[in-house]
Amino acid sequence: MRVLVVEDDRDLNRQLVSALSDAGYAVDTAFDGEEGFFLGETEPYDVVILDTGLPKMDGISVLEQWRRAERNMPVIILTARDRWSDKVAGIDAGADDYMAKPFHMEELLARIRAQVRRASGHAKSDIECGPLRLDTKTARVTLDGQPIKLTSHEYRLLAYLMHHNERVVSRTELVEHLYEQDFDRDSNTIEVFIGRLRKKIPPDMIKTIRGLGYRLSQEGDAD
Ligand code: CA
Repeated sequence: MRVLVVEDDRDLNRQLVSALSDAGYAVDTAFDGEEGFFLGETEPYDVVILDTGLPKMDGISVLEQWRRAERNMPVIILTARDRWSDKVAGIDAGADDYMAKPFHMEELLARIRAQVRRASGHAKSDIECGPLRLDTKTARVTLDGQPIKLTSHEYRLLAYLMHHNERVVSRTELVEHLYEQDFDRDSNTIEVFIGRLRKKIPPDMIKTIRGLGYRLSQEGDAD
């Protein structure tokens, strides 16, 4: 999953990037409203964390312009503690949730997980696909109840496929949602990681759909 952090407070921005990276997200970052707006308009994000008080363009205007341009990704705004009017303006502008500063990082991470789940149509924090179970709270995957050891890149890939199971996901979509903006986007990387995942889960659960991409499905049937 790929997240955009738009926050001009450098310390907070750094803390957010580090907490999100540790939690397995690919993170892009912006320090003012214009840069943030541009990234959110051009790149596909699974969630955006958007401060309301930003230089160059304030967060509410950024959000309004994204929504006007039909950018529908989940957005969590960060507001000053006592500014209830910012929360109202933010939600009216199209925010999906808000966090008042200062906040506990764990709470923000839980709200991000909820947004990612909802956006992909899952209400529960455990996502199941046949014998596989992803616990989004702990970022662990089990196969028939046994934990599977995954590297962080393998986890990102499998978690994305599990959020979107039974759907064909293209290689481009995977590259765009698993890696940061400046990552070397060689699509062979995806094939390598798919190959590694197939060694850790029942191999026919991940189907290659020729010319279209991959589909994770619980049935091991042939197409
Ligand atoms: Ca600010």
